[in-house]
Amino acid sequence: MKFERLRLLGFKSFCEPADFLIQPGLTGVVGPNGCGKSNLVEALRWVMGENSYKNMRASGMDDVIFSGGGSRAARNFAEVGLVLDNSERLAPPAFNDADSIEITRRIEREQGSTYRVNGKEVRARDVQLLFADAATGARSPSLVRQGQIGEIINSKPQARRRILEDAAGVAGLHTRRHEAELR
Ligand code: ATP
Ligand code: MG
Repeated sequence: MKFERLRLLGFKSFCEPADFLIQPGLTGVVGPNGCGKSNLVEALRWVMGENSYKNMRASGMDDVIFSGGGSRAARNFAEVGLVLDNSERLAPPAFNDADSIEITRRIEREQGSTYRVNGKEVRARDVQLLFADAATGARSPSLVRQGQIGEIINSKPQARRRILEDAAGVAGLHTRRHEAELR
């Protein structure tokens, strides 16, 4: 599945609406230190269902909401939208009736997150599984954080196994097996 665009509103340093068109081929994001390059990648991770605020470099999930700066007041919510090209119909059956799929995640202060797929409210789990089946997602090995290479080298065997399972595309199955065992 191809990412087509990423929309941000009030996410971290992106106070004003920002809409990034992701064209085929390699996309580079360049800019001075602190301009928001990592925030942009975190927005992508977040909309795919990241539930660890630590992975957002935050001390609580509400910290992803624009907290004010310069002459701008803080926002009360943050929203990120990710549009996927589904012309090859690779999405799970529940979401597979359109050529493009927009996943949105919105967080309001002290209210937690809500997710939508093409406007219809869904569970976080649905979004996480959608991406796990497509061998990508918030914990995808193709998203490499600053400093992560060093962490992989120094990680314990179990953590390294998790990385290899993600890379092999079996993480979605693992999650489902765990859920089945709980029932
Ligand atoms: P580097 O080149 O150093 O890696 P970068 O382009 O990756 O920099 P980011 O880490 O994405 O930069 O952005 C950091 C900036 O985002 C900081 O100025 C920080 O104050 C700002 N920021 C983070 N969270 C918020 C928030 N909730 N509200 C407003 N600004 C925020
Ligand atoms: Mg950075």
